[in-house]
Amino acid sequence: MHNVESFRDLQREATEWRRYLHENPELDYRLQNTARFVTEKLASFGINHIETGIAETGIVALIQGQGGDGPTIGLRADMDALPIVEASNKPWSSKIPGNMHACGHDGHTAMLLGAAKRLSATRNFKGSVALIFQPAEEPEFPSGGFRMVQEGIMDRFGISQVFGMHICPGIDIGKFGICPGPIGGSQDDFDIVVKGKGGHAAEPNRTIDPVVIAAQIILGLQTLVSRRTDPLESLVISVTKLNAAQAYNIIPDHVEISGTVRTLLPGLRDFAEREIFAAAQGIARGFGADVEFKYLRSVPPTINHPEETKLAVAAAQDLVGSASVNDAVKVSLGAEDFAYMLEARPGAYILLGNGPTAECHNPAFDFNDEALSYGIGYWVKLVETALAV
Ligand SMILES: [Zn+2]
Ligand SMILES: [Zn+2]
Repeated sequence: MHNVESFRDLQREATEWRRYLHENPELDYRLQNTARFVTEKLASFGINHIETGIAETGIVALIQGQGGDGPTIGLRADMDALPIVEASNKPWSSKIPGNMHACGHDGHTAMLLGAAKRLSATRNFKGSVALIFQPAEEPEFPSGGFRMVQEGIMDRFGISQVFGMHICPGIDIGKFGICPGPIGGSQDDFDIVVKGKGGHAAEPNRTIDPVVIAAQIILGLQTLVSRRTDPLESLVISVTKLNAAQAYNIIPDHVEISGTVRTLLPGLRDFAEREIFAAAQGIARGFGADVEFKYLRSVPPTINHPEETKLAVAAAQDLVGSASVNDAVKVSLGAEDFAYMLEARPGAYILLGNGPTAECHNPAFDFNDEALSYGIGYWVKLVETALAV
């Protein structure tokens, strides 16, 4: 009954690729072996338009359909691993100590290769497909998706719509989750330096104690969320680093506070940048101190476009049936740098079930190879839906 059966033969091959990539994880932009592996596989499928070295180790390959002229759509997979010591105890565990595919990007790469093999053999679509293999999804700004957009891939390859997919522990194998609008959060970080006046801890009256002021600022920032933000809109402000004096008897002259901001709404990033500074400065000045402030914008929220979300839902339903596609999936505030591609072009990002496994970024995580045929099938169905002859 399930259309997925026609992708089972590719699953066996993609499993070998996936496990090879899992054994050989590389980080950020330093994906020389991974990029070579991907390029060789694409060439072996008879794909002859392959551009390498985009954003250092990124690749874009084009497959033209047999159905005549039409638009070009982009399908994106990320290729980088994480600096984690693997504890999955799988026979295909990482051979590179300290590097690990703990976010499933080995599977993402293998699935897009599987789709490339099938699509280059059948070409049952009009227009073209641009296969985007990106480096450095995990690092903070500037990440690989941002740089590939900056280097002009959307214009250069004439991409009019772009699609992404991520494996998701907690969703059953063979099921998909997606929603229109925001599906993933933004990530911005901030640094505050509270500048007081240091001195002896036994004579606080002769100092302007930045530790006490920092404590007030940390609590004050929480009221930006609880008292100043619409309760129906999501904003997280987390202070994650605090650096003060290194002795029992010294009041330092400054304290450093750092943290992160997550939200689903671009407007709340502007609010956070403006109001964190205003609150910190106001509190510090009230005690005769001052602040230095830096706000570092990283990944924007991942926002699915309505029309492309419908295409993605239709493709997934064609593969697994409507009961296995949740089109109102619960959003996460985790950041995903595919968001930059969705800022550049309309598109949609879908979650693919990994079953009840360890979470992504956990040392015990492993991409479930049973998911491969569903991911490959989704890409093929999506192309044949969006570029139907
Ligand atoms: Zn990740
Ligand atoms: Zn990831």
